[in-house]
Amino acid sequence: MTEPRGELAFIHWIRSQLPSADPRVTIGPGDDMAELRLPDGGRVLVATDTILDGTHFDARRDPLPDIGWKALAENLSDIAAMAAVPVGAVGTLALPRDFTMAQGQDLFTGLKRCADEFDCPWVGGDITSWDQRLAITVTVLAHAERPVRRSGARAGHCVCVTGRLGGSLLGRHLTFRPRLAEARRLAEAAPLAAMIDLSDGLSTDIGHLCRESGVGVCLEAARVPVSDDAVQLAARDGRTPLDHALNDGEDFELLFAVAESDVARVLVLDLGVEVTVIGRFVPAAEGCTLVDSQGHALDLKPGGYEHWR
Ligand SMILES: [Mg+2]
Repeated sequence: MTEPRGELAFIHWIRSQLPSADPRVTIGPGDDMAELRLPDGGRVLVATDTILDGTHFDARRDPLPDIGWKALAENLSDIAAMAAVPVGAVGTLALPRDFTMAQGQDLFTGLKRCADEFDCPWVGGDITSWDQRLAITVTVLAHAERPVRRSGARAGHCVCVTGRLGGSLLGRHLTFRPRLAEARRLAEAAPLAAMIDLSDGLSTDIGHLCRESGVGVCLEAARVPVSDDAVQLAARDGRTPLDHALNDGEDFELLFAVAESDVARVLVLDLGVEVTVIGRFVPAAEGCTLVDSQGHALDLKPGGYEHWR
């Protein structure tokens, strides 16, 4: 493979290898889910994600049911990002060779609890074992009449985010609830121009959305909703709470674009989670900036998680 190495560069190269037009592919790579047209004219969304012991969880410390929950929940978060409804899920469990039956059952209990709570039938998969640490890959199928893409944000649209960000490492990254119902209610209340779920960190994920939409963004630091976890973590490690909110991964909240004329319709919803307007999309030439409390515009650099960097 040619340099530069890294997840984004590799994805870019893979996309260059794929045919640009296939009538079966209604949404190709680059979104939270791809969409395929079925022979009968129906459409199905599909996405997959892997979590690895030592990278996305720590099997020596984290409860196995929580690990199982996370494996499915982060896939459901991609379904939420399209404002879609789950159709079903399959997965591969790569178990360490010394894994016991009871451990396998604990792991699956969490997975199944997530499947039941979010009404996503678990329909099988594959179990394998090896001399390495636990790895779980889940693939989900979903459907939406009008999937919300990453590509529809336009200059002037408001940037909105659900929940509070940062510090998920203190536990929320394992036990979060994917924003499935919230996403559908938001999409019903107003046309959402674009949406993504925050898996790699706000500063990185907003870059993905801007790239796909061909826009820039201007965020107001003072408006970014900072979680209590971010404040707690900042007190320990000397980074600022805002730094955690911007750059920590695995919040699994929703970031979306909505026209200013529609924003009131999403802000009045009682979702059980707050929705905050944190800035505006701007023309691409203006780039991605963060305006601090003194009014200084700083470059908003992706500081979140890029895999395989
Ligand atoms: Mg996603």
